[in-house]
Amino acid sequence: MRRHYEIVVVGGGVTGLMTAALLARGPQSDAMQVTLVDAGPRPAFPADDEIALRVSAIATGTAELFDSVGAWDTIAATRTSAYDAMHVWDANDTPESQSGLHFDAAEFAVPQLGFIVENVLLQHGLLRSLGDTSVEMRFDTPIRSIRKLAQQFRLELDDSTSLDADLVVAADGARSFVRSAVGIETKEWPYEQTAFVTHLRPERPHQATAWQRFLREGPLGILPLADGRVSVVWSTTPAIAEQALAAGDEQLGRMITDASDHVLGKLEVAGPRGTFPLCARHAMRYVLPNLALVGDAAHAIHPLAGQGANLGLQDAAQLADVVSAAIDDGLHPGDKPVLRRYERARKGANATMLHFMTGLNRLFTTDSVLIGELRTAGMRAFNRSGPIRERAVKVALGVS
Ligand SMILES: Cc1cc2nc3c(=O)[nH]c(=O)nc-3n(C[C@H](O)[C@H](O)[C@H](O)COP(=O)(O)OP(=O)(O)OC[C@H]3O[C@@H](n4cnc5c(N)ncnc54)[C@H](O)[C@@H]3O)c2cc1C
Repeated sequence: MRRHYEIVVVGGGVTGLMTAALLARGPQSDAMQVTLVDAGPRPAFPADDEIALRVSAIATGTAELFDSVGAWDTIAATRTSAYDAMHVWDANDTPESQSGLHFDAAEFAVPQLGFIVENVLLQHGLLRSLGDTSVEMRFDTPIRSIRKLAQQFRLELDDSTSLDADLVVAADGARSFVRSAVGIETKEWPYEQTAFVTHLRPERPHQATAWQRFLREGPLGILPLADGRVSVVWSTTPAIAEQALAAGDEQLGRMITDASDHVLGKLEVAGPRGTFPLCARHAMRYVLPNLALVGDAAHAIHPLAGQGANLGLQDAAQLADVVSAAIDDGLHPGDKPVLRRYERARKGANATMLHFMTGLNRLFTTDSVLIGELRTAGMRAFNRSGPIRERAVKVALGVS
C-alpha cells in the first residue's frame, strides 16, 4: 500500500515557500501532506506601499523556477525591474576603463540578465501559488523544540501543539534553530564587513544596469528599481556602515555618490535604511535521517554577486526532485541515502560559490600594489577569454 508522508517545512522565507510549492505541485503531491510553519506573521504585499528595503537580484534561471510553480505571473505583473546589463569596475579605475567588466543580455542571447524583485513580492507570489494546494500554513508559530523519534522528528510548537514529520525541511534562515537543535555544526568565515542598504534617486537614468564598484573596504552594488530609483548594497567596514546609518540625508547622499564614483551622477537618498552584518557560513552537513537543510540554514554567502537566494532556491528544486523520485521508486523520502542525493548535488556547488565570493571579496579589498596590478591584468584577460567569460555568466544566470 502506498504510504502518506508528513513533510514539515520550517521557515516561510523564499526558500521554505518555494520548497513547499514545488512539493505540493510535484508529481507525488498525493503521497504527502506538507505543513509550513513560520515564527513570523504571514507576509503581506500591499501593492500601493513603497518599494520595500530588501530586494534581491533574481537570475533568469531562477525566475523560470518561480514560473514552474505558477508564481512568476503575479511577480512580473507587479513591479519587478528587469536588468539587461551588468557593469563591474575597480576603485583604482574609472567606470569606462578597459579593465572594467561589462555583460550584456544580447551578448548571451537572453532577453535579460535577471530581475530586481522585493523579497516580500517573491514571498507574495509563492503564497498565492500555494493558495490552491493542500499545504497547511501556520504563521506566528515558532517551533519550541525538535526531537528525534524512531523514524520521525517531533516538533513542539509555541502554541503547545506538536507535529510529527517523516521529513523536516529546515528553511529557517542563517541562524537556523533547527540546525543547532539537531547538532549540525557550521564553519564560519567572518568578513568584517556590514552591508548598508538603502534606495536612492540617481541624477542620470540607471539604464537597466546592475553596477558594482569594488572599493578597498568592500563592494558597492547599485541595482536598478522599477520606478527609476536604485537600491544600494554597500558592503563596507562596520564603522562606515554605522556612520551611514546615522548620517543626515544630504551627507549620506554625498557619501554614496562619492563611493559610486558619480557613475549615475548625484545620488539622493529616497528610501529607508538598514544594515546587515556579513559572515560566510556553511553547514558541515546538509542532511540527517528525516531532515534536510535548505537555503540560508545551509549556507550564507557574501551578497556581492546577488547569489544567496538563488542558491537556496536551487536547493529547494533539487530537494523536491529527490523526494518525488524517491517516492516514485517506493522509497521513504526521509531515508538518509535518499537525502544524501540532495546533499551530494548541492553542497559542493554551494561551497564553490561561497569560496569564490569570499576570494573575490578578499582579492578586491587588498591594499597590495602588486595584487592590484594583477587584478587589473586579470580583469582584462577575463574580458578577452570568450569561453571562461561565457561559462561564468551562465552560472550567474542560473542557466548553466
Ligand atoms: C544585504 C543583502 C543583500 C542580498 N542580496 C541578494 C541578491 O541580490 N540576490 C540573492 O539571491 N540573494 C541576496 N541576498 C541573500 C538572500 O537575502 C538570502 O539568501 C535569502 O533571503 C535567504 O532566504 P531563506 O528563505 O533561506 O531564509 P530567510 O529569508 O532568513 O527565512 C527564514 C524564515 O524562517 C523563519 N524562522 C526562523 N526561525 C524560526 C523558528 N524557530 N520557527 C519557525 N520559523 C522560523 C523566519 O521567520 C523566516 O521567515 C542578500 C542578502 C543580504 C544580507
